[in-house]
Amino acid sequence: MITTDVLIIGAGAAGLMCAAQAGYRGKSVVVVDMGKKPARKVLISGGGRANFTNEGASPENYLCQNPHFVKSALSRYSAQDFIDLVDRHGLQYHHKTLGQLFCDDSAQDLVDILMTECEWAGVQVNLRTEVLLVTKIADGYSVTTSDKSYQCKSLVVASGGLTMPKLGATPIGYKIAEQFDLNVLETLAALVPFTLHEHDKERFDGLSGISLLTEVTSEDGTSFKENILFTHRGLSGPAILQISSFWRAGQAVTINLLPENNLSETLIQWQNDQGQKSVKNLMATLLPKRFVEVLVKDGVIADKPIKQLNHPEITALSEYLHAWQIKPNGTEGYRTAEVTLGGVNTDELSSKTFESKKQPGLFFIGEVIDVTGWLGGYNFQFCWASGYACGQAV
Ligand SMILES: Cc1cc2nc3c(=O)[nH]c(=O)nc-3n(C[C@H](O)[C@H](O)[C@H](O)COP(=O)(O)OP(=O)(O)OC[C@H]3O[C@@H](n4cnc5c(N)ncnc54)[C@H](O)[C@@H]3O)c2cc1C
Repeated sequence: MITTDVLIIGAGAAGLMCAAQAGYRGKSVVVVDMGKKPARKVLISGGGRANFTNEGASPENYLCQNPHFVKSALSRYSAQDFIDLVDRHGLQYHHKTLGQLFCDDSAQDLVDILMTECEWAGVQVNLRTEVLLVTKIADGYSVTTSDKSYQCKSLVVASGGLTMPKLGATPIGYKIAEQFDLNVLETLAALVPFTLHEHDKERFDGLSGISLLTEVTSEDGTSFKENILFTHRGLSGPAILQISSFWRAGQAVTINLLPENNLSETLIQWQNDQGQKSVKNLMATLLPKRFVEVLVKDGVIADKPIKQLNHPEITALSEYLHAWQIKPNGTEGYRTAEVTLGGVNTDELSSKTFESKKQPGLFFIGEVIDVTGWLGGYNFQFCWASGYACGQAV
């Protein structure tokens, strides 16, 4: 039996950040993780370069049943605080778009920083250690793992969500919450590609690899102006991943395929100055040719000279392409999703310390709780912020 002040379940972004902060405060800290390596999700994130924060991160970039919780939780540790930390370690990184920061070389550099912080803070990280059972004892918690047993005063659950089970995702965090009578909100795969119904799959067969700038809107009115990508399984790309967090089964999404063009005006202009050219060839100057061919086959784009389009045809084509409706069949699910929506209800937790209101000494941080960021470095920023705040309190 090992006795420690703080035991943290999960050596991911949130768990390692919390561990270092608690260690610097003089606490004895052990982190246990069933993986062979620490922070495996950090390693694969952002295409192997980890989009580790977003300079513009604010509460509006998160989904949570209680928006006030996010406001308070984020306020104690900002994106700039994390940038200052990686600067102190000399990390080389670059700005991409929309405030997103990525490592220049590899996400391993970021994991090295987290592990160095833990080492400096005297934290012990025990890998290949699966948590099997948690029980309440008089002065804290007892935790049985596949290796040793532990006793701790503070137990921090940083076990993440359900995405990518092959990287060690388990429902242990939700189970611990339920064991101690904490409410857990329904979980769903988010930041995830859409699959299509069979007839759409056949229509778009051959478009795989095509990417275009769009504005995608969900039925609740949320919009993202980013690229979509046709894949051999359905639709992906940043705009689709973003909107998937707001989409529910059976709903349609509306895609403005020409968000930077007023198509009616363009068509009338073409009638005036390029009247002999075909609608099809002219549309191929605005949209990928293979996609235009599908729309011609569907009868959406007429195969005739532009001057022959009448006014209702101009209006119909313009409305169709500015508000293309697509009803996904579903999502690719947890196998490929980047995050899990839902989780431990934030009403159960202090937004200052992340401690359970009902169960003193029990803390939840990171993705296991009902806070889900948009695509763009927001999820890691929440891990840093929640890990930091909790590390000051355990
Ligand atoms: C492909 C992909 C790319 C992503 N890219 C980005 C990005 O660029 N930017 C961004 O902000 N976010 C990104 N995300 C999301 C981000 O990775 C997660 O939100 C974040 O890693 C969650 O961190 P966490 O510490 O809460 O949990 P995790 O990182 O999931 O860590 C939880 C840990 O708990 C361990 N664990 C679980 N159950 C047990 C158990 N029973 N016993 C012991 N250990 C256990 C797991 O092994 C795991 O190591 C991406 C996600 C994916 C899947």
